[in-house]
Amino acid sequence: MRRSKLFMPTIKETPADAQIPSHRLMLRAGLVRQTAAGIYSWLPMGYRVLRKIEQIVREEMDSTGAQEILMPTIQPSELWQESGRYDDYGKEMLRVTDRHDRGLLYGPTHEEVVTDIFRNSVKSYRDLPQNLYQIHWKFRDEVRPRFGVMRGREFFMKDNYSFDIDAASARISYNKMFVSYLRTFARMGLTPIPMQADSGAIGGDMSHEFIILADTGESTVYCDSAWLDSDPLSLDIDFDTDLQPIVDRWTKLYAATDDKYDPESCPVNEERLYTGRGIEVGHIFYFGTKYSNAMGATVSNDQGQEVPVEMGSYGIGVSRLVGAIIEASHDDDGIVWPESVAPFQVGLINLRAGDAACNEICEKLYSSLSVANVDTLYDERDERAGVKFAEMDLIGLPWQIAVGPRGVKAGTVEIRRRGGKREEISAEAAFSRLT
Ligand code: ATP
Ligand code: MG
Repeated sequence: MRRSKLFMPTIKETPADAQIPSHRLMLRAGLVRQTAAGIYSWLPMGYRVLRKIEQIVREEMDSTGAQEILMPTIQPSELWQESGRYDDYGKEMLRVTDRHDRGLLYGPTHEEVVTDIFRNSVKSYRDLPQNLYQIHWKFRDEVRPRFGVMRGREFFMKDNYSFDIDAASARISYNKMFVSYLRTFARMGLTPIPMQADSGAIGGDMSHEFIILADTGESTVYCDSAWLDSDPLSLDIDFDTDLQPIVDRWTKLYAATDDKYDPESCPVNEERLYTGRGIEVGHIFYFGTKYSNAMGATVSNDQGQEVPVEMGSYGIGVSRLVGAIIEASHDDDGIVWPESVAPFQVGLINLRAGDAACNEICEKLYSSLSVANVDTLYDERDERAGVKFAEMDLIGLPWQIAVGPRGVKAGTVEIRRRGGKREEISAEAAFSRLT
């Protein structure tokens, strides 16, 4: 992409109403714009990142055997009256009435809809287990939408729902999601920490929140420092095997948020205890037959008896992650994107636009990087070098290459990792380093 063609409305001043770094940086770097309180439009740079995150989530879901579906954002109120949540859910639910006076709502979550699909389609234990996911918009009329996309009213979520014949098999489904979440967040350059959680309004008895470490997170985290070196990607996971040992290995390491931490009973000694801050990016629940009982979602088991299906639900805040990753990875100059989610891999800066030799080297690099499928943002504008460098640092691409007249004479270009040292090497060497 050529910078002159890219729609990236950056802002110089720090937006006054943005309280945390990710919100400020997302506005300044032109990733999003607020359309209404807690409701955002995604501009090209932000949307590229959102899609990268979505794709990692999708790949990891697919590798567990879960299948992607797409449910409507608008749901009929009757389904929620059946489950008993219509009155309980309160003001967070946006309720609307259609022209025939029928009650509708904008889905804050999809247990009811998916249970309805299930009860109309699956009758026998032979068709279980099933695990269905979607990556889609939710609406919750939060009392205090804040921190940009981190706590919006409309937000993008991956949610999925598992269906099993009995509690033992439901635990297997739960464990798959547990391990797949560890991998998903680690692929985004994050350190995920699963914490035993209350299952809240959704109800049930097995539940973990996944918190990632970030200095500006909403909650205080106390954990065994072994968490900081635990690398979920080093595990070679086969989702058809028993994952309980892996879940046990992770859950036996101590971790708690401030509301649960008690210095008296904390099993980790002071030197080993890490105290930091964290952001919730995912939440998994096993809630058994809560919805299947209420909504009559039964299947026949191998004895020919009708039993309610055992369910779990699992969420990842895909749009929250864009902010959370920035909270975990930025410096005074701007965003520092992990490679796996960066909007472009390389920022190519022409330091003397108009100079024939500089143009030639840049164009050559730009086209060979494109052919090699390295996403490159080429800043070919007639702007001061300082402006271009500052913008590249702000938008946080993993690599920068700068091409200027002095280097061109010497047969070199400057290459630099975001935040790292400049190095002068030949254009060919720069190309091979990036491919
Ligand atoms: P929170 O405690 O932050 O309100 P929650 O318990 O309501 O979260 P879930 O219903 O489990 O969240 O939703 C799954 C995931 O969706 C959360 O882990 C979070 O990452 C994301 N999420 C929830 N609410 C919002 C929101 N208002 N804006 C953006 N993301 C959200
Ligand atoms: Mg909430």
